[in-house]
Amino acid sequence: MRLTVVGCSGSAPGPASPASCYLVEHEEFALLLDLGNGAFGALQGVLDPGMVDAVYLSHLHADHCLDVAPFIVWHRYSGRSDGRTVPLYAPVGADRRLATAYDPDGGSIDDVFGVTAIGAGRWTIGPLAVTTVRTQHPVECYAVRLEAGGRSLVYTGDTGPSADVVELARGADVLLAEAAHPDVPGLPDGLHLTGRQAGEHAAAAGVGRLLVTHVPAWVDADAQLAAARAVFPASELARHAGVYDI
Ligand SMILES: [Zn+2]
Ligand SMILES: [Zn+2]
Repeated sequence: MRLTVVGCSGSAPGPASPASCYLVEHEEFALLLDLGNGAFGALQGVLDPGMVDAVYLSHLHADHCLDVAPFIVWHRYSGRSDGRTVPLYAPVGADRRLATAYDPDGGSIDDVFGVTAIGAGRWTIGPLAVTTVRTQHPVECYAVRLEAGGRSLVYTGDTGPSADVVELARGADVLLAEAAHPDVPGLPDGLHLTGRQAGEHAAAAGVGRLLVTHVPAWVDADAQLAAARAVFPASELARHAGVYDI
């Protein structure tokens, strides 16, 4: 498996990166994990959009799904789409949410996407074995474990501290974990992880490597990394345009 970070800025696009979008490739199959605002521009520097085989949206917050709108524009008007629909996996309500993001009148996006509503469970996307669990977040959100060729990647999506996410990540080669919250008092529960909590999840799950991601532009990324490393040394910051062999 190969992971390319298309966007890693937390909660909103930042000056150095779009919002959440990760390209996972295995045996010529290309899966996008999230398509947050700003990501479609950067995606075109990495992969022809017509080569995207499937899209997985962890949840329907803007920083994880809004660039489905330019993806639709590209498919409808670039003249470069081969006309096949793209499987899209997302929490229930995605079809309406994404259609409205594209056009105020809504309408159908069935000409571009084959939408499947997801829950917690197991299935396959192309050559990838998929397992999902519900995370701790104000809206329905699913962390995902991808396995292929004996390797495994777990992406938290957005979550507060979660024993289910730890179990999902058990023994994974790479944990791509959000760390949006700075370590300050008074932040709400059930929303995001701090850097230290991301490290604690990696340590508890016994993963091989932690990639810290989803750090907002207004949060000190180096401090988030240092906090993660203090409890899990094999931690690094996910970098925009970074490529990671898993
Ligand atoms: Zn987010
Ligand atoms: Zn969110």
